[in-house]
Amino acid sequence: LLPAALRLGGRRRGSAAALGPPGSGSGSGSGARSCSAGGGGVLRHLLLKLRATGPLTVAEYMREALTNPGQGYYTRRGGVGGDFVTAPEVSQLPGEVVGLWCLSEWMAAGRPAAMQLVELGPGTGALTDDILRVFKQLASLLSKCDVSIHLVEVSPKLSETQAQMLTGGKVQSNSEDEAAYMKGISKTGIPIYWYRGIQDVPQGYSFYVAHEFLDALPIHKFQRTEKGWREVLVDIDPEAPDQLRFVLSPSSTPATENFIQPEETRDHVEVCPEAGVLIQRLASRIEKDGGAALIADYGHDGTKTDTFRGFRNHKLHDVLKAPGTADLTADVDFSYLRKMAQGKIATLGPIKQREFLKNMGVDLRMQVLLQNSRDSATREQLLHSYDMLMNPKKMGDRFHFFALLPHHRLTPPHKEHNLQSKSPLPPVAGFGELLLK
Ligand code: SAH
Repeated sequence: LLPAALRLGGRRRGSAAALGPPGSGSGSGSGARSCSAGGGGVLRHLLLKLRATGPLTVAEYMREALTNPGQGYYTRRGGVGGDFVTAPEVSQLPGEVVGLWCLSEWMAAGRPAAMQLVELGPGTGALTDDILRVFKQLASLLSKCDVSIHLVEVSPKLSETQAQMLTGGKVQSNSEDEAAYMKGISKTGIPIYWYRGIQDVPQGYSFYVAHEFLDALPIHKFQRTEKGWREVLVDIDPEAPDQLRFVLSPSSTPATENFIQPEETRDHVEVCPEAGVLIQRLASRIEKDGGAALIADYGHDGTKTDTFRGFRNHKLHDVLKAPGTADLTADVDFSYLRKMAQGKIATLGPIKQREFLKNMGVDLRMQVLLQNSRDSATREQLLHSYDMLMNPKKMGDRFHFFALLPHHRLTPPHKEHNLQSKSPLPPVAGFGELLLK
């Protein structure tokens, strides 16, 4: 259960307007859809590239639209609001729960002397801010542990927003030859480092948290045809030279050869190889150094087909229109992540957010928060964000939690262990009961 000592965070957050990708929408792999482009830097850059080298994969298109160093959507996005709102931006509960989850796993591991909290794609920094508040409230537990925070963020603008939220802006830029490009000290006195990629984060006992991160990584799209699998590509519309459209590759591509499973039954498939590489890296690290990864995202277990969506001003936005000005996302395929873990580590989930949060004791926590709130506006905001998180039609059934853990966390390494140890392995919180012992 969530300790009653945790108090409502001081930060005021915006109210939720949109929730992320809806379950269904217009198909995009037919090769026939065309739309008008709104201009802007990414589009100009892409048109030049398309004229010079021909059609791009959807993954290349998505990468340019989101993280092009000058004009990408995330590269330019600075703070809260605008096109989408995520759960940590409207509620303190996700961060508190993730903080408690890490503490409970740290205790189950026998309280290692050092712990790194690594957040991938921290957005405004709200989740880590809430986790740090939990660590501060439970400081007596952590008094002998050397805690550090490691943020993986490509967007210079967002790293500034994170620095402001977590350190009050007191950060120092590092020279090019250092792994971290920026460092600072959190308002609660914990060192924080920023990196461009997971490969730069130091090895060691770590919790890796990815909240609405994997859905922003570039996907490849494939369509089954009478002649076999074809990749969906992005090209210039021949009838409107400043507009983009989807086409199908005339023959199979290296990606169709490598990414489609022989037993695939769907007609349309999305694959995110960057997520696969990330999982392999996390699996190697967790296998070697211990710790865990907690992945929270919109997703499915290998059943959905066309989930590639754009969001702008809280509304669905044509993915091919004005790239760089809208958020692009695709649901996470958890079955693919499980496959990519390659048995190196154990996986748990995906479990629906509604169930994960209930298992973590959010209902009791909500009661405490409501009792402690002084005005009706705060109470209303609490109830509104609770509904966003738990309502099955909103995030409750569509947002999932998925964990990577060392095998020995779930299965004792030796048979003798079972005979010798006095207590069985504690359940993994969220996927089972939360016990803070
Ligand atoms: N986790 C936050 C924000 C999600 S938005 C939340 O739930 O509120 C996605 C975040 O990932 C942004 O911070 C974006 O800048 C970052 N990002 C996107 N692609 C990235 C990449 N390839 N490498 C590192 N960070 C990336």
